[in-house]
Amino acid sequence: MDGKDPVGGQWNYDAENRKPPKDGLNVPKPTAFEPDDITQDVLKLVEAEFSDHFGVLHPFPFAVTRAQALVVLEEFISDRLPQFGDFQDAMVQNEPWMFHSHISFYLNCGLLDPLECIKAAEEAYHHGASPLNATEGFIRQVLGWREYVRGIYWLKMPDYKGQNALNATRALPDFYWTAETQMNCLRQCVSETKSNAYAHHIQRLMVLGNFALIAGLHPDEVNEWYLLVYADAYEWVELPNVSGMVLFADDGLLASKPYAASGAYINRMSDYCKSCHYKVTKKNGPDACPFNYLYWDFLIRNGEKLRNNPRMGLIYRSLQRMGDEKRATIEADSARFFKALDNHEKV
Ligand SMILES: Cc1cc2nc3c(=O)[nH]c(=O)nc-3n(C[C@H](O)[C@H](O)[C@H](O)COP(=O)(O)OP(=O)(O)OC[C@H]3O[C@@H](n4cnc5c(N)ncnc54)[C@H](O)[C@@H]3O)c2cc1C
Ligand code: SF4
Repeated sequence: MDGKDPVGGQWNYDAENRKPPKDGLNVPKPTAFEPDDITQDVLKLVEAEFSDHFGVLHPFPFAVTRAQALVVLEEFISDRLPQFGDFQDAMVQNEPWMFHSHISFYLNCGLLDPLECIKAAEEAYHHGASPLNATEGFIRQVLGWREYVRGIYWLKMPDYKGQNALNATRALPDFYWTAETQMNCLRQCVSETKSNAYAHHIQRLMVLGNFALIAGLHPDEVNEWYLLVYADAYEWVELPNVSGMVLFADDGLLASKPYAASGAYINRMSDYCKSCHYKVTKKNGPDACPFNYLYWDFLIRNGEKLRNNPRMGLIYRSLQRMGDEKRATIEADSARFFKALDNHEKV
C-alpha cells in the first residue's frame, strides 16, 4: 500500500498475469530435500501399509521442518517470484512446478505463516527484486483467495458440503486414478498429480476441474478425489475450491460464474494440445477435442439455471444463434462420449 492507495494506482494487475507459455522458458528446479531419518521411517511405513494407494512415494522432496520450509520460501522469492505473475496461468508439458511458490503444503500445516510470506514478497518488491504485477498477484492469492475460501468454509459449513446446485450425477471416470486417457491435458495433469501430490492452480481449475464441471461429475466424488490426491488438501480449503470455484455446486456463492471453457482456452494457455490424440481446432466428430462439444452441451443442459446469470449473457446469446442442426450435433457427440465414458472405455 502507498498510504490509503494501492501502489501503482491499481488494486489488481491480473491483465498482465495471463501470459501464455513461450518457447524456451527457463523454469528453475523446485527446492528439494533429502529425506531425514524420521522421514525415511515414515516412508517405509507408508510403503508397507499403503502401497496400493494413489501416488508415487519416491522421490520425496518435501520440506519437513520449519527451517526447510523457510528455504522453500526464500528460494521462491529469489528465483520464481519475478516471473510468477507473467506465467501464473500457463501450463507446460513436463514442467509441473512452473513459477509457483509451492508453499501451500507448509502454510496449511503451520510450518509457514501467511503474513511472513506476504512480507517477504513485499520486501522483494521494495528492493526492486520483483515486479508489481507478480508481487500483487502473489499477495492476493495468499491474503485474498486463501482467506476468502477459509471464510466461506467457516461461514457456510456444514450445509455447504451437501450442495449440488447443478444436479450433477456422473461417477468420477477411471482416468482420474489411472491417467489412462487420450486427452493429453488430463493425462498430464493426473500423472503429475500422482508423481508430485501437486498440480498448480490452473491445472486443478481449468483442466481437471473444468472437465469435472462440463461432464457433470457428482460433487461428492470430485471432492473426495481432490481431498485424497494433493499434499496441501485440508477440507476447509479444498471444499470451497471444488464445490464453489470448480463445480458451481454452491449456486454461485463463491464464484459469480462457472469456470467452464472449451479446448481453445487450454490450447492458448498450454502446449498440451500439440501432443494430443484429439484435434483442438475440430468442434465435432470422433477426433474433435471433447472439451469443445462438452462445453456447449454443459451450457445447453444447464440453460435453465445459468441463462439469466449476467456474466453468461453473451455466451447464451451465441448459443441461441446456433442453428438446431449444430446443437443436435453437439448433443450427439456428447452422448457418444458419455456412453463410452460410462462404459469405462478409454476416451
Ligand atoms: C479444484 C481446486 C482444489 C484446490 N484444493 C486446494 C487444497 O486442497 N489446498 C490448498 O491449499 N489449495 C487448494 N487449491 C488452491 C490452489 O490451487 C493451491 O493453493 C495452489 O495450487 C498451491 O500451490 P502453490 O503453493 O504453488 O500456490 P501459488 O500459485 O504459488 O499461490 C500462492 C499461495 O496462494 C494460496 N492460494 C492461491 N489460490 C488459492 C485458492 N484458490 N484457495 C486457497 N488458497 C489459495 C495458497 O496458499 C498458495 O500456496 C485448490 C484449487 C482448486 C481450483
Ligand atoms: S485437444 Fe482437447 S483434450 Fe487434447 S490436450 Fe487439447 S484441450 Fe485437452
